[in-house]
Amino acid sequence: MDVFGSIADIRQAVQNQRRLGRTTGFVPTMGALHAGHLSLVEEARRHHPFVVVSIFVNPTQFAPHEDLSKYPRPREKDLALCEAAGVDAVFFPTVETMYPPGAATTVAVSHLTKLWEGAIRPGHFAGVTTVVAKLFHIVPADAAYFGQKDYQQQAVIRQMVRDLDFPIEIHTCPTLRDPDGLAMSSRNAYLSPAERITGLALSRALRQGEQWFREGQSGASITTALQEMLQKEPGLQLDYAAVVDPDTLQLVDQRLPQVVALVAGKVGTTRLIDNAIWTTAAP
Ligand code: AMP
Repeated sequence: MDVFGSIADIRQAVQNQRRLGRTTGFVPTMGALHAGHLSLVEEARRHHPFVVVSIFVNPTQFAPHEDLSKYPRPREKDLALCEAAGVDAVFFPTVETMYPPGAATTVAVSHLTKLWEGAIRPGHFAGVTTVVAKLFHIVPADAAYFGQKDYQQQAVIRQMVRDLDFPIEIHTCPTLRDPDGLAMSSRNAYLSPAERITGLALSRALRQGEQWFREGQSGASITTALQEMLQKEPGLQLDYAAVVDPDTLQLVDQRLPQVVALVAGKVGTTRLIDNAIWTTAAP
């Protein structure tokens, strides 16, 4: 496995593969890798002979009061996990490499980014789309793999790729969970045992919501019930709970064949997000 810090070197490595007729699958991450990230690597490996992982804690997607400085950065462990997972190349740039002095261009997606995470974290998605646009130019891969865990993020990236004609396929892979139901996240490392139990309220609410969906309740009534349920949860500061259209992310009032339930909140100082896709059974 090669580890590259230079833009020219990783780009060359991918281009060399293309010349040999080998396609590249790309998994962008912020490191502190867990089994969720590795499931994306596995999926990339199933479809592409060359797999690249990027590890970059992108400062522009963090607001000043957020956890940029304490975000975990276990470099050696991450590299060992990549090696064991069969990754071919890791792109591990510095902040200066990605944002040299004088950088003045951003990529911003409208509409979708105003909702939910975008409303709670203004500027977050502009940071995400700018860095992902740069990464897609730096790593000229055939396909990129994202997690459903960050449902809105993958929707925003799909929109960007469509609007700006990036020649890359976007794949969204299912959320991996710990056995207790908590969606795996690098931020779970911040949780105390008691906070972790509080955090389970999110996945529990999603399971309950799915049952209501199967019983035929409307999107609006499930949204209200999820909000009531989660607002009552001691220790959880709910940001939002909503049943939305899978494409527009707008609230769903009635019933649709497929909806997405989005939930997010803070437990102590740790922000957790989760979601579930619910589909009516085929007739
Ligand atoms: P991050 O390092 O948090 O930026 O995540 C990198 C990629 O891994 C994103 O596409 C995430 O959606 C994905 N990811 C994070 N957690 C999970 C999980 N529990 N299951 C599947 N994918 C995940």
